[in-house]
Amino acid sequence: MATVSFRNVNKVYPDGFHAVHDLNLEVKEGEFLVLVGPSGCGKSTTLRMLAGLEEISSGEIAIEDRVVNAIEPGDRDIAMVFQNYALYPHMSVRENLAFGLKMRRTPKQEIAERTAEVASTLGIESLLDRRPRELSGGQRQRVALGRAIVRQPKVFLFDEPLSNLDAKLRVQMRAEIASLHHRLKTTMVYVTHDQVEAMTLGERIVIMNHGRIQQAAAPLELYRRPANRFVAGFIGSPPMNFLRGTLKDSMFQSEGMSIQLANVSNEALSHEGNVWLGFRAEDLVLNSDGPSLPEVELEVVEQMGHESIGYFTLLGERHSIRLPATSEVNPGSRIVPRLRPAGWHLFADDEEGCRF
Ligand code: ATP
Repeated sequence: MATVSFRNVNKVYPDGFHAVHDLNLEVKEGEFLVLVGPSGCGKSTTLRMLAGLEEISSGEIAIEDRVVNAIEPGDRDIAMVFQNYALYPHMSVRENLAFGLKMRRTPKQEIAERTAEVASTLGIESLLDRRPRELSGGQRQRVALGRAIVRQPKVFLFDEPLSNLDAKLRVQMRAEIASLHHRLKTTMVYVTHDQVEAMTLGERIVIMNHGRIQQAAAPLELYRRPANRFVAGFIGSPPMNFLRGTLKDSMFQSEGMSIQLANVSNEALSHEGNVWLGFRAEDLVLNSDGPSLPEVELEVVEQMGHESIGYFTLLGERHSIRLPATSEVNPGSRIVPRLRPAGWHLFADDEEGCRF
């Protein structure tokens, strides 16, 4: 087990593109940390710098107390699991699992024992003599995981390992990776663009955008107290609803619509200029004393079984409301959504979009 530290890390690609800006981050010993963000935000570059697959332009990365900037990938005591599995096609599963240990001149007996143990942990004993092409996608990913585990590294790195699996298998493997972390308690750094994967796997999530950390926090903290409008819109499904307007005293106003808010912070009240009012689908309800939005017409109703999600347009934007499965609503139903008393957030209408 080990800590990982990024200290003022920058990555500027040879063509001058600044992909990672002044990254400062401490991954705790045994922590499951997820790096998440939209395509191009710099999360893979960050992971690849840690793995030693990409040079660090400035700053330093340390694993435990050892700065690894100049250390070869093979000597960093890490194991990486990739999206495309990266198995050796001409080797059997057993040989794939054993390869890393063999290269390190591990005694034969120990290789056999460790391989058998990992195969049993992952339930792939019956596949040991097969070649990768004779395996399903899920089985291949399991072998790729096994190959990382067998090396008993100090840190596991995952680069979108579940992206090539179908939806059902992805959910199953997600649970397996979580239980693996629970058993091994090894430090893990996991990259994904999928916020649901991030929320379900991460003990702590780092959200990146344009090469910068937007927020690093536990999943529920991100959900409940997003630091800015980007984080608020990125985490959660359906995404948070937003209305742009002004705040006068505690009254949010937008194009003739007024919503009276309670307990607005002084910071928000003293903010000059526009603000964004954000509220999640579950923060809108039909029966409450909260401030009401104008009457709207549901355009789409998605029946999820245990609940429904209704969609309506307000001030030209699509919004969503989560409704109990028992609600008798259909497309065309007219409703008056109300805001739960504390079910809203205010954000500045500027580039950073900080939450008040
Ligand atoms: P994705 O989910 O699409 O893989 P990402 O968040 O992992 O995205 P990175 O692969 O880290 O993003 O790339 C970050 C930025 O750096 C992107 O804008 C990308 O185009 C750019 N980039 C990546 N590799 C290079 C390179 N070799 N030369 C120049 N720019 C690069």
